[in-house]
Amino acid sequence: MELFNVYPVNPINIVKAKGSLVWDEQGNEYLDLYGGHAVISIGHTHPHYVESLTQQLNKIGFYSNSVLIPLQQQLARQLGEVSGKVDYTLFLCNSGAEANENALKLASFHTGRKKIIAFSKAFHGRTSLAVAATDNPNIVAPVNETDNVVFLPFNDEDALVNAFQEYGDEIAAVIIEGIQGVGGIREASIPFLQLIRSLCDQYGAVYIADSVQCGYGRTGDFYSHDYAGVAADIYSMAKGMGNGFPIGGIAIAPKFKASYGLLGTTFGGNHLACAAAVAVLDIIKQEQLLANAREVGTYLIEELKKFDKVLDVRGRGLMIGIDLPEEYANVKKELLSIHKIFTGEAKPNVIRILPALNITKEIADRFLTALEERLKA
Ligand code: PMP
Repeated sequence: MELFNVYPVNPINIVKAKGSLVWDEQGNEYLDLYGGHAVISIGHTHPHYVESLTQQLNKIGFYSNSVLIPLQQQLARQLGEVSGKVDYTLFLCNSGAEANENALKLASFHTGRKKIIAFSKAFHGRTSLAVAATDNPNIVAPVNETDNVVFLPFNDEDALVNAFQEYGDEIAAVIIEGIQGVGGIREASIPFLQLIRSLCDQYGAVYIADSVQCGYGRTGDFYSHDYAGVAADIYSMAKGMGNGFPIGGIAIAPKFKASYGLLGTTFGGNHLACAAAVAVLDIIKQEQLLANAREVGTYLIEELKKFDKVLDVRGRGLMIGIDLPEEYANVKKELLSIHKIFTGEAKPNVIRILPALNITKEIADRFLTALEERLKA
């Protein structure tokens, strides 16, 4: 059997990894500044993470949600503590799409309404509601098309007010990334997030903060909406939550009431996934990785702004987009082929970096030196 080939792959076989470094089978060392698309939060093969998962696998890897799994409670407790949202509850699933799917569904159950407001260039995942709220017609199958999603221009306060005036009490939820990732590292303005909060309050709609890529400490705050001083009703999360072990979840404000069978999944919250996520939170806390994300991220952003060839540097913490002139569209490829540095892209001339939260200043400098060399070449 062959693979159903949906990914354009680099012909590089990564066989070993440590922190922000990875090695191929020939022993070549690479800098990983993409972290598997914001997935690697505490670095590759962190000893505490490896130990926790190994121990758990030796005890029990999976049973089902029909038995008590104290690790789930522990995860919820630690997540509340690290994120500061102690009175929220946690529903566990397996991916970012599934987290958003459940967030949207819960908002609809809770309000009894159907309409969802989403924004231009948003990416929320590939399951039916999540993809319907994603602004990319190429990945929306005919069966996922719906009139229930209203797309508005990002950061446009007038359009948002008008939409609430037009649809008013039909609106179940507004879903927004604090910083759009796939959309090219575009930050929601603080007044825009505050306006969403006040309109949701006024009209009884649910504010969903898609924190799958921009959350989990990446911006230096736990959720990227925190710096706006607004609390969302639901935060969706995945990616960095398990550092590569598939796990997702939604943190749900106290006003939502759980009832038997409302949401569900076979694998969500299994022992191994919870052990991975607990280890990640242990490390985020012990090693003060939110502070590191803020510190190294600010350093990178400030240094990148000094490059005269760089048109724009966007983002916050360790979620950074670097706009280069069109004629530098090869830089991303050359960073990999010449300097052995993995970065991500939105468009060829936009470099996206999403490194592990424990990236060191020394690794950041290696990237800055390589980029400088490429922009001089
Ligand atoms: N939301 C955002 C903001 C994302 O960036 C992604 C993945 N790129 C998703 C949701 C979907 O996550 P997953 O691939 O785990 O389903």
